[in-house]
Amino acid sequence: MTPAKALADRRRPKRVDVRRIRAFRSRCLDWYDGNGRSFPWRRPGTLSDYEIVITETLLQRTRADVVARIVAGFMSEFPDWESLANAPSVRLQDQLRPVGLWQRRADSFRRLASEMVLLGDLPRSREELERLPGIGQYIASAVMLMRDGRPEPLLDSNMARVLERYFGPRERADIRYDPYLQALSRQVVRCSRSLEASWAILDLAALVCLPRLPRCDQCPLATGCRFRLDAPVEPRGRRMLERKRPPTRAR
Ligand code: SF4
Repeated sequence: MTPAKALADRRRPKRVDVRRIRAFRSRCLDWYDGNGRSFPWRRPGTLSDYEIVITETLLQRTRADVVARIVAGFMSEFPDWESLANAPSVRLQDQLRPVGLWQRRADSFRRLASEMVLLGDLPRSREELERLPGIGQYIASAVMLMRDGRPEPLLDSNMARVLERYFGPRERADIRYDPYLQALSRQVVRCSRSLEASWAILDLAALVCLPRLPRCDQCPLATGCRFRLDAPVEPRGRRMLERKRPPTRAR
């Protein structure tokens, strides 16, 4: 193999058997139908663009049950971009305090809200969305998924943990630039229930595939999961499933 071909091969994402992806998705959705979590923002087609962006931004780095406790009060006090852009710092920080990082989040929300007051509507394309302050790949995907019905994955560290454990590890440290995880997550949610497929994986990450000690004995993915199958076996026949990596927090 020439050096150029070797380099090209390294850049090409690993391929995963499409039947394995279908089986994974089908098990996730079956499990979700009986075990998925219910949150105020999980009402497809009923959220405004503003509500999508604010809620999904709050959900980053914060557990969903914590966000659920504050989201109604937040929306009631700051129902649109204009009220958020003009929000007094103290009131905004008070609302955000329970979810943590309140100063940084307040600044970021106000910058985005000021821009949105000038713009009027959220842009349609991913490139334009990602140019807005505070909107990265994840929020742009959430907008395109929930607003436009596009099959974009809600790929965060929690979804990445489930995918990596089941299918195999990423190729790059940052999931935003990992061609394997990017391609895999898109294939997984490319179906008629793409929004629920993402929610199913996030709920599995929060309830079953926990960061430090996954509950494999309760997991619908157990039979095909690489992490579980590769786990060393103790003398008494039990698998040692506690591992340090990936160090992510269930949301
Ligand atoms: S079998 Fe275990 S490690 Fe694999 S996805 Fe399920 S909970 Fe996670």
